[in-house]
Amino acid sequence: MRAIDAHVHTWTREIISQKDLDARRIAAERTGIEPQLDSPVVNLKEAMKQAGIERAVILPIDSGLNQDMPLTLTEKTDWHAQEVEHDDSLITFVGLDPRRGREGLEELRRAVKEKNCKGWKIYPPNGFYPDDDDFFSYYELASELEIPIVIHQGFTSRFKHVKYARPIYVDKVAAEFPQLKIVLAHVGTPWVSEALMVSAKNPNVSVDVSGWQVFASRIPHKLYEMIGEAKIMRVFPNRMLWGSDFPLFEHAMSLKDWVKFFSNIQLPEDLIERGYPQITSKEIELVMWKNASRIFFGGQ
Ligand SMILES: [Zn+2]
Repeated sequence: MRAIDAHVHTWTREIISQKDLDARRIAAERTGIEPQLDSPVVNLKEAMKQAGIERAVILPIDSGLNQDMPLTLTEKTDWHAQEVEHDDSLITFVGLDPRRGREGLEELRRAVKEKNCKGWKIYPPNGFYPDDDDFFSYYELASELEIPIVIHQGFTSRFKHVKYARPIYVDKVAAEFPQLKIVLAHVGTPWVSEALMVSAKNPNVSVDVSGWQVFASRIPHKLYEMIGEAKIMRVFPNRMLWGSDFPLFEHAMSLKDWVKFFSNIQLPEDLIERGYPQITSKEIELVMWKNASRIFFGGQ
């Protein structure tokens, strides 16, 4: 089955903060693996090749207001833009903290118009609620530029604040800007019902399943239930996107195995007996290819 990975990251230790490197070491220790201090684009390309993934969407994060960063905001945009410049299989977003005011607005416009960034990644755990009225000029600009936005939701790293990452704080934005395409990352884990509710209510809101390979590898039933629930709420299949959060969960399940797992997914008998409808391979195709193609690649 054709696949677009709707949620990946690339970085090297030259472009992220000391604090993020520390957080990576803490996370690695918790899981008993080697910390991932570098994840260059060549690693992503190799994993995509192994897994048979045709396209991926890179989502940079702007932590420049909280931490000392080696690159300025514009340098960081340019760094990511350059990574994908001669590669049709990759697109990048611009990572931007909306508390940056006018400077941020100018950068959003420049990133899209001059650097070919295809969307805006928002990372609320850096310390803001996305539905703050102060940020509405950003959503107006994103609507004008006709770019999608991906908002990190749920679980975050050691030094960020998870209270900002609840799906409920996206609802107002989705309602006030009905034309704006919004993706709630990770189906809001652990606020899954909240994410599905916000998506069910707002036709402009989708969810991505990146990170769910952790459940697939250990307690797949949790994933099946989420999909069953999403189907009942009509979020699945048209507003769910497949993704990985590469390279963060390779230790749980490789990109290749995650593609294989999701391509063949079927709800187990006990869920069907409880009244959940079975899912079809046509629906999986929407999640793994068509929805992301429509939202991120102009239907191509
Ligand atoms: Zn991510």
